[in-house]
Amino acid sequence: MAAIYNLVFHLEACKEWDKLSEWQKRRLKLSSKKLYIGHEKREGWLGELPFYIFWCHECDHCAKDYPHGDITHQYLVCSFCGVSHRFVPLKVFWLTLFETIKINFQLRFSRK
Ligand SMILES: [Zn+2]
Repeated sequence: MAAIYNLVFHLEACKEWDKLSEWQKRRLKLSSKKLYIGHEKREGWLGELPFYIFWCHECDHCAKDYPHGDITHQYLVCSFCGVSHRFVPLKVFWLTLFETIKINFQLRFSRK
C-alpha cells in the first residue's frame, strides 16, 4: 500500500466525513466543492487557518487541508495522495465577479 501523504489530516478528514449527511457527501463527491469546517491553530503556527474537507477525485478519498499559496492562486493538497486541487475562496470569487461586472460596464459606456 502506498504511503499516505498526511496521515494526521487524513484521519481527521475521515472523522469529519463521517459527520456529514448522505446528501452532503454526495454533493461533495459529485462536485469539486470544498466544505469549510472551521479555523484551527496547530502547534508552531502564528494564527488560525481555515480548514476544508473535500473529495479527491484522483484517489477517491476524503481529504482535509488548509489553503496554500497566495490569495489569488490558492490550492488544497489531498491528505491521502498529495495531489493539489485548485481552490478559489468565496471572497475572491465575488471580488473577481464584481471586477468583471465593473469592467463590462465601463466598456459599454465608454464605447459611445
Ligand atoms: Zn487524493
